[in-house]
Amino acid sequence: MEQVDCVVVGAGVVGLAVARALALAGREVLVLEACHAIGTQTSARNSEVIHAGMYYPTGSLKANLCVRGNALLYAYCAERGIGHSRCGKLIVATAQDQLAKLQAIQDRAIANGVHDLVWLDTPQAQVAEPALQCLAALHSPSTGIVDSHGLMLSLLGDIENLGGVLALNSPLALAECACEAIELIAVGGTRLRAKTVVNAAGLQAPALAARFAGLDPRHVPTAYFAKGNYFTLAGRSPFSRLIYPVPEAAGLGVHLTLDLGGQARFGPDVQWVDSPDDTEVQAARGDAFYAEVRKYWPALPDGALVPAYAGIRPKIGGSNEAARDFCIQGPRDHGVPGLVNLFGIESPGLTSALAIGERVVELLA
Ligand SMILES: Cc1cc2nc3c(=O)[nH]c(=O)nc-3n(C[C@H](O)[C@H](O)[C@H](O)COP(=O)(O)OP(=O)(O)OC[C@H]3O[C@@H](n4cnc5c(N)ncnc54)[C@H](O)[C@@H]3O)c2cc1C
Repeated sequence: MEQVDCVVVGAGVVGLAVARALALAGREVLVLEACHAIGTQTSARNSEVIHAGMYYPTGSLKANLCVRGNALLYAYCAERGIGHSRCGKLIVATAQDQLAKLQAIQDRAIANGVHDLVWLDTPQAQVAEPALQCLAALHSPSTGIVDSHGLMLSLLGDIENLGGVLALNSPLALAECACEAIELIAVGGTRLRAKTVVNAAGLQAPALAARFAGLDPRHVPTAYFAKGNYFTLAGRSPFSRLIYPVPEAAGLGVHLTLDLGGQARFGPDVQWVDSPDDTEVQAARGDAFYAEVRKYWPALPDGALVPAYAGIRPKIGGSNEAARDFCIQGPRDHGVPGLVNLFGIESPGLTSALAIGERVVELLA
């Protein structure tokens, strides 16, 4: 049977960042990817925003890895010439009762180590963004956008330059965990033995971990799926920064993001679904977007929103529960030597990817 030092399951942005970190630490790495190409799942279906880290509970993995990941990602993009823009974002309060929430976001940002937020009153916000209607706004200059596909290609280039290998069309079916090694069985029956296995299968990570013999099922969370639909704005964007409402429900609210070409899109909303493959955008969902967007951009023309795409958040808590933190389980958590499971790596997973890579290397040290 073939032996490998480390196997990373999943070639999304997180799996690739973890594989790169392991390769940089001198490990021999094989990345197994079920699809025909890298980064075709959640990593291709998001807002491509480099978050600053102001929303997440202080001390959480989301807060710590986002703040660290933000700095690492800007530095990596600059070094490698990966498309990105430090365009900044405004979080806007459009109702009196949101002013206290906006203040709470600023307080939490400081507690999380994000010290660059600037409070803007209405005239100041309108100087920055004349089309905006709000009572107050927080400007986050260290929020930006990134070419996520360019990023993933660069991570893969690093892995391969360090001697790592990517195997496409190679879905892992199950694993048998023993003390000395983990035996992996691919769909089709090929067997492989590895000292270290990192489960970075995104939406499939809990289902895959449930097929790891020797891993106590108590450590495998239930998977839930929260779809986020996007609608593109037909015509030019009236904004040059990202515009976010004060968050109310499970997501960050229907916000405006820009791609590197300046194209504006609105979303994602939150639609709980049963399947991780349910990525069709129903045009009718756009109806609810108009009222949400007009709270901060009253001039949004009728008929300007065009169904675009949807991504599915890999949740590990249900619709009635508080948002869960990232769940990064190493041998000390579940008792299986050499195994790391990454569960619930929803937003800000893209921003945090390089920091998650560092974290996994630490867990395995
Ligand atoms: C709507 C939405 C908006 C978001 N916006 C942002 C944002 O603006 N900024 C931000 O920082 N984050 C954002 N995120 C979060 C970010 O997109 C994810 O955290 C990140 O893409 C997760 O990457 P991943 O590698 O864990 O998962 P994925 O990209 O899903 O990769 C998992 C890979 O594993 C493979 N796989 C699955 N099962 C197997 C198997 N059995 N064998 C082999 N391979 C397998 C899949 O084919 C896939 O390629 C957003 C997420 C969503 C849903």
